[in-house]
Amino acid sequence: MEPDISTTTAQDPFTDLRERIIACRMCPRLVTWREEVARKKKRAYQDQTYWGKPVPGFGDPDAHVLVVGLAPGAHGSNRTGRNFTGDSSGDFLFPALHRAGFASQPTAAHLEDGLELRGMYIASVCRCVPPDNKPAPQELAACRPYLDEEIGLFPHLQGFVALGRIAFDWLLAWYRQRGVDVTSMTFEHARLHRPPGVLPWILASYHPSRQNTQTGRLTAAMFDQIWLMARQAAGL
Ligand code: SF4
Repeated sequence: MEPDISTTTAQDPFTDLRERIIACRMCPRLVTWREEVARKKKRAYQDQTYWGKPVPGFGDPDAHVLVVGLAPGAHGSNRTGRNFTGDSSGDFLFPALHRAGFASQPTAAHLEDGLELRGMYIASVCRCVPPDNKPAPQELAACRPYLDEEIGLFPHLQGFVALGRIAFDWLLAWYRQRGVDVTSMTFEHARLHRPPGVLPWILASYHPSRQNTQTGRLTAAMFDQIWLMARQAAGL
């Protein structure tokens, strides 16, 4: 069964953007890959219908904090249709968001699991699963307008949490386009940068990938620190 994507009215800008993202076929390599992964499937999920399309953002339309990740996981959100849902990164992320009060529950399994985010929205710099988790520069460039547009939808946005260096670099380019000198803005875990003026702050975090969490590069305590800092910086 196809997941239901209609959660708001047709006039809602979130729905409009969401539908355009889901229908996108701009990157031939990624279209081929996402559909091939969805067709072949992982052995454990042979009985499931994979999403196999671009994965839009999700969360609270009145978010104060926008979390930016890299791209869908092959058998996680490329299967379930929602960011960080159904894979090991999500198994590390959502318990932490729940502990911090951003998520209504510590688990994320599928689109109908009841998960809600409070004060937070989760998006990614690349909406389609890339081979080897590595989107090409031209694919990131093609996908850029979607996140640019999404950022503009939050009237009370206070800041970004960048999960991993690629998301952080993407956001630095966003600041650069707005005239910010980003030379002192370095990627370090739990480093908060406050650009001048009214622009949102940015907090850097290691990505909750299996590679980082299983090696101890990112521990639950280190991740809890990120969400506590985000709450405080956002005034929540
Ligand atoms: S990565 Fe982005 S721009 Fe490329 S096909 Fe997917 S949704 Fe479209």
